[in-house]
Formats: sequence, C-alpha cells, structure tokens
Amino acid sequence: MTRVAIVGGGIGGLAAALFLGRRGHPVTLFERDGRRPGPDLDRDFFDWHRPGVPQAVQPHGLLAPVRTVLRAEVPDVYDAMLRLGARERNELDWFDERGPARPGDEDLVTIQTRRIVLEAALHDAVHREPRVDVRLGEPVDGLLVDRRGDIPLVTGVRSGSRTHDADLVLDAGGRRSPVPRWLAAAGCRDAVVENHRVRIAYFCRWYRLRPDGPRDPGRVKAGSSSAFAVGGVFPSDNGIFAASLTVSTSDPTRAALRDPAVFERVGRTFPAISAWLGLEPEPVTGVLAMGGLHNRWTALADAAGPVVTGLVGVGDSVAYTNPTMGQGVAMALEAAQWVARHAAAAAEPAAFTGSYHRWLARTLRLRFDAQVAADRANAAQLGDPAKVSTESPTAPARERAALAACAFDDPLVMRARAKVRHLLLTADQAYGTEEVRARLAHWLDQHPDFTPRFEGPSRAEWESAAGYAEPAAATPHTAPPGR
Ligand SMILES: Cc1cc2nc3c(=O)[nH]c(=O)nc-3n(C[C@H](O)[C@H](O)[C@H](O)COP(=O)(O)OP(=O)(O)OC[C@H]3O[C@@H](n4cnc5c(N)ncnc54)[C@H](O)[C@@H]3O)c2cc1C
Repeated sequence: MTRVAIVGGGIGGLAAALFLGRRGHPVTLFERDGRRPGPDLDRDFFDWHRPGVPQAVQPHGLLAPVRTVLRAEVPDVYDAMLRLGARERNELDWFDERGPARPGDEDLVTIQTRRIVLEAALHDAVHREPRVDVRLGEPVDGLLVDRRGDIPLVTGVRSGSRTHDADLVLDAGGRRSPVPRWLAAAGCRDAVVENHRVRIAYFCRWYRLRPDGPRDPGRVKAGSSSAFAVGGVFPSDNGIFAASLTVSTSDPTRAALRDPAVFERVGRTFPAISAWLGLEPEPVTGVLAMGGLHNRWTALADAAGPVVTGLVGVGDSVAYTNPTMGQGVAMALEAAQWVARHAAAAAEPAAFTGSYHRWLARTLRLRFDAQVAADRANAAQLGDPAKVSTESPTAPARERAALAACAFDDPLVMRARAKVRHLLLTADQAYGTEEVRARLAHWLDQHPDFTPRFEGPSRAEWESAAGYAEPAAATPHTAPPGR
C-alpha cells in the first residue's frame, strides 16, 4: 500500500483522500481551515469566511464527469448529495418530445447544487473512512525533499514542528498552492507555469424560492449573452438559486453592480434572471463579486522531464481555469481518480510521475487549452464595451450562432451541444458529424433570414438599468463628473 499525504482538503484533496482510502491506501489529509461543513448547510455556505477558497460562495454548475466519477468511485457520496438536496438536470429535459434515446443520454446531466453540498458529502465520508486521517486546522508548511538522486524526491511534509513521511504527496492546495515555491526553495528546477490573466469579473446574488411557489419559471434558457456581458441563473439545492452577471473588468458600470438594487435592475434585462426574479424569491445575500482570475497551468515537469518525483498535483494547483466552462471540479475529480487508480505504482516514483504527466498532457491539458482559446475568442465580446463590433458576423460566426439556436429546437443538435458542454467531445467531434450538419442545414433552410442576435440587453438598456451616465470630459469650462 502507498502512504499518501495530501496538502489541502478542498474538493480535489477530499476526493483524492476518499478514492485512495477506499482502495486501502493509508492517507493523511492536511487542511489549513479548522472547520468542516455540518448539518446546517445554509450557515456553512453563507456565513463561513473562507479566505483560502474565495470562490466557495460563487455558484457552481457540476458537469457530467463529476457525476460519473462520483458514481463510479463513491456512489454513497453521490446518493448523500441527492439526499442533501442536489438536483439532476438532463440537458434533453428541455424537450417534451426528444425522440428515441441513445446510449449515453442518461449521462448528460448537470448536478444543480451549491458546492457546499458536495463538500459536506465528501467530508462526511472522509471522516468515516478508517484509512484516512483528517487533520483540520493543520496547514502544511514545507516539504521533505531527498536530493540525492538525479531528480529530487519528495518523501513527506512538514506541519508546524512535526514531520510526516509519505510515499506520495499530493498537492491539492488550490490555485494559490505554495508547493511550487517550496520546490524552488528546496533547489528543484522551477515548475513550468503558463499564466493567462482573465479580465472578467463575476457578480452573483443568492435567493430562496418561496416555499409555496413554483420550483422554476418553466422553459427558459439558464443563461444568455449581450454584446458585452453574460447573465444567467444557477438553480441549486433546496429551493436556492443564484443570479449571476459576468462583465469585463474594464466595464465602467462594474462597480455599480455591487448595489443589490442595481444588480437586480440590470439582471432583469436578461431573460433567465427576469423569469426567476419574477417568482418573487427572498434574497439571502448581498451581491458577491469575484475577479482577479487566471487560466494557469502549472507543470511540475519541463523539457528535461519531471522536476520532482514523489509529488503530483490535482485540481486547481495544476489546472486552474476561468469558470465560464465550469470544468474545475470535473478536472479535480478526474485527476483524483487517476491518482487513486494508479497509486499502487507510486513505489516507482519516476515511472509514476512520468505517467501522470503524460496523462495530464493527453487529457486535462486539452481542456485547459480549449478554455484559453474560448477566452481569446470572447475577449472581443467581454472586452472593452466601447469597442463592441457592429460589423456583420462572418460565415463561421453565423454558423456557430445557428448551431446554438438550433440546439434548442432539435434534440439531436442539443445532444451534440450537451456532449461539448459536458466535456465528453470536442466541438469538432460533436458538430462535425453528417447528421448534425444535415440537421443544421435543414434548420437554416427553415430560417433563411437567421442572423445572430443577443438575447441580453443592448448597451443603452444596460447602462440605463445600471444608472450609468458617461462622465463628461473635464475641461476648465465644465464641472467635474459627478457634481
Ligand atoms: C468564480 C468561480 C466560479 C467557479 N464555478 C465553477 C463551476 O461552475 N463548476 C466547476 O466545476 N468549477 C467551478 N469553479 C472552479 C472550482 O471552484 C475549482 O476548480 C475547485 O474548487 C478546485 O478544487 P481544489 O481542491 O483544487 O481547490 P480548492 O477547492 O480551492 O481547495 C484548496 C484547499 O487547499 C487548502 N490549502 C491551501 N494551502 C494549504 C496548506 N499549505 N496546507 C493545508 N491546506 C492548504 C485551502 O485551505 C483549501 O481548502 C469556479 C471557480 C471560480 C473562481
């Protein structure tokens, strides 16, 4: 059996501990935060100050791989999530009539829940797992590194004055993981870090549906775009949902969105938010903002091979992505699953580390690259709102927009869209088939005048809702803005 020490008890660390422990490996999990979720999910979600996991209060949509990995590895945890109020939403539920089912349709499911539900279910199971020793409130503050071989070997961790030996150390310390710094201080070659700043900010507000009212407003798309922003809702567990607005960090109306009244006025200019707020829910938070995001790939390997053995990363410590595609938790769980399935081979640290890096390059790296490419493509849209293009769309842009529109009319195209959205196929694989192309051509025949249009507000509508008036240029003859 492989003795494993894990730095960080977020989603990736908890999942890895559980998957490993259930396979018989002794695990010690170190988490800086001394608190764990208890029976009062609302208190834990809304009142727990978590500087180590600032995204914890932002809405999370959990994609198909999350469900698939949990059901394969720890079905009891998945069942516990459903008992705690998580809901399953199959993408094909959009249609009353969806035609004959195909294999795999049953997997095209988003788990609709606050992330605290997943954390609570994982914590409960981890604390009951005899092979996992959970050390809450015990941060790791250094690594034990043996530098005698060609490649430095991590042999354990340090926490306060104590050391802890391990055959394998997992870095699950999240996007601000200190591990690359520690490796450099221990004399290892530098980790190779690729960093792309994401110039968008997320704003959300949480609401509770009225207990005697409907659970949703009927058929309305969860999200829609304008030329410079995205607005949508995240239906979650127990009658809770979040309304969410995403804008460029350079948008001059950004600061005003922190005011709940402004947030709601602007939110109502998007169909989904308007429909859900129409249910007259009770707001349960103010407006919660988050920016300062990056797409960051941290490789503990360079052109000469692994910079260290005996240590690998899972979750955001390796692949930290802008959440527009919502793939962070899926990637953390898939990595945890790979490590657990192969941990017995960690007795050969160099071979184990090498295979893990190759797996990362073949799988998660492609997803990371897709997020970076999508962000580049969106940069024009969510970039400087003053530079929103008024030119006619190019033919490929029209086709992409037609595919998106057609998916909501045609279950076959929706299935393809769902496979892309849930990270099961690339866009080329899903949309490049003869039948999808034929269905799109048929749809375009029926909609000859189709031109892409945004379902969200125009800039004038947005600015009016935000109460924004462009500041007048200050000259000696005009009053300063704001007077
Ligand atoms: C705004 C926003 C929205 C998002 N939405 C989605 C979404 O819709 N769907 C989705 O799948 N993903 C989403 N994500 C991404 C998702 O939150 C992350 O991918 C996920 O939390 C990664 O898990 P992790 O375990 O790697 O890190 P984290 O969950 O951040 O956990 C890291 C843990 O390590 C601990 N730690 C750090 N250093 C130490 C140390 N030295 N010793 C001990 N403990 C330590 C921290 O306290 C923390 O608990 C979103 C992210 C953001 C920012």
